[in-house]
Amino acid sequence: MDLASYIRNIPDFPRPGIQFKDVTTLLKEKDAFRVAIDQLVEIFRKESLDLVVGIEARGFIVGAPVAYLLHCGFVPVRKKGKLPAATLAKTYTLEYGSATLEIHRDAITRGQRVLVVDDLLATGGTTKAVCEMVEELGGNIVAVSFVIELEALRGRDKLSRYPVYSLVKL
Ligand code: AMP
Repeated sequence: MDLASYIRNIPDFPRPGIQFKDVTTLLKEKDAFRVAIDQLVEIFRKESLDLVVGIEARGFIVGAPVAYLLHCGFVPVRKKGKLPAATLAKTYTLEYGSATLEIHRDAITRGQRVLVVDDLLATGGTTKAVCEMVEELGGNIVAVSFVIELEALRGRDKLSRYPVYSLVKL
């Protein structure tokens, strides 16, 4: 299945000059959604993982079914101010703008093996910030994975300490 054909390009969203890769057109197609999740799961089938960390918001849609199928726990990384208990926060730069993400301080136990999941790898700033938080809490990053990778932005270079997997390279 050509997963790339299900991803819609929206020029100049949310800012002029940004080519926004809209994954909702893949998610709404039952076969494409299933194939994407199954392909991500297959990569890690033989790994022993404890947790999938998903990045708000589209990383939840992809990360939760991956966690379920790999029989892992799921930990959400959320935008500032959403998590109710004590958090660790990190501010980072995006392809467009900057943001602060938070994770519950007690979400990860030292030594747990973690897979980080998001829908899309652009500059890698988001995922790098998340990996740093996971490591600060004592987690071991086994890999980071995405449905879509915008190769020209070289996000992999920022994540060179980790195995990086993506299903669709655009
Ligand atoms: P980055 O930190 O630059 O790798 O940006 C990754 C995050 O921003 C992901 O959570 C993406 O969902 C979102 N994102 C960045 N650039 C785009 C884009 N061109 N199209 C769709 N989503 C994007």
